[in-house]
Amino acid sequence: MDRRGAWSRHNWLSRTVNNGSDKAVIHHHCFRCQRDFVEDQSIGRYAVNVSVFRFQKLADPISKRWITGFCPGEALTQDLADRKELAT
Ligand SMILES: [Zn+2]
Repeated sequence: MDRRGAWSRHNWLSRTVNNGSDKAVIHHHCFRCQRDFVEDQSIGRYAVNVSVFRFQKLADPISKRWITGFCPGEALTQDLADRKELAT
């Protein structure tokens, strides 16, 4: 399922964030395609929409698609729609 090397094709800006709890997570932002992911030690990686106050977890199919896909190299119009599909 995981396409080999997809993750490393992005150009990451990564930072450790205290996500409103006592548990720190790593926020990865690709400055080419503008996608955002959170890496949580206990549950793994997932795609997120970044708002000012918190991470909004995206629906699982989008998370999977973003994680396994190669970096698009630019911000995609489709991503705007993807970001509105939040996990329930
Ligand atoms: Zn990218």
